[in-house]
Amino acid sequence: MRKRLIAGNWKMNGSKPMVRELVSGVLGQLDQGRSAEVLLIPPFPYLPLVGSMTENTPVLLGGQDLSRQASGAFTGEVSGEMLAEWGCSHVLVGHSERRSLHGEDDALVAAKFQAAQAAGLQPILCVGETLEEREAGQTEAVVRRQVGAVIEAAGIAAFARAVVAYEPVWAIGTGQTATPEQAQAVHALIRAQIASEDATIAGRLQILYGGSVKPDNASDLFDREDIDGGLIGGASLTADSFMAIYKAA
Ligand code: 13P
Repeated sequence: MRKRLIAGNWKMNGSKPMVRELVSGVLGQLDQGRSAEVLLIPPFPYLPLVGSMTENTPVLLGGQDLSRQASGAFTGEVSGEMLAEWGCSHVLVGHSERRSLHGEDDALVAAKFQAAQAAGLQPILCVGETLEEREAGQTEAVVRRQVGAVIEAAGIAAFARAVVAYEPVWAIGTGQTATPEQAQAVHALIRAQIASEDATIAGRLQILYGGSVKPDNASDLFDREDIDGGLIGGASLTADSFMAIYKAA
């Protein structure tokens, strides 16, 4: 049985007072009886604050991005080792905003995936098609290519220590959630692609859905066989909405 994972990607939002309030709210509503895991993914400067507030709690910490390099003259970059040192267990790689706004291609995403694992972090590989690609009937081909590039670079065994997030670009921040059927169909494709190389790894792989997940649509999504949790953007910025989604998991 796969554990549910509810991850809050705060993107470039927050301030010290907001972080304190949000994390206190999350901790206050954690239910130790639930098996779902909670992962907070703040902007880099808030990692120490969130890490100290969540120490000795089950709440996990993650980074939004990392460098493909381990160290050196790479101004503005943050390494996987640094994230691990501040208590991160996970890191996003290939978020659609990194792909579209920062020109990250499949090769760079695969290199970051490997850099994350080299630092002992679990990469959360984000994949998903644009609206144009969906309308052109290319959803399967795009997602297959994005996942395939990482399988080719890192090897299938690497997926035993990774998470995949399906985030259709047209659903991110738009309020237009994929229907549970649309999401489940792509999740099943991703799991089948992994299973064609290693069925055990595929059976254990957490595949999250992201894109306008809200308290009122979360349980319908999480009810689907291959949807193992969510990667939440906007609704992760208040404890009440984020934890309502957690309670739906
Ligand atoms: P929204 O939940 O705001 O649509 O963002 C989804 C996302 O990109 C999470 O990584």
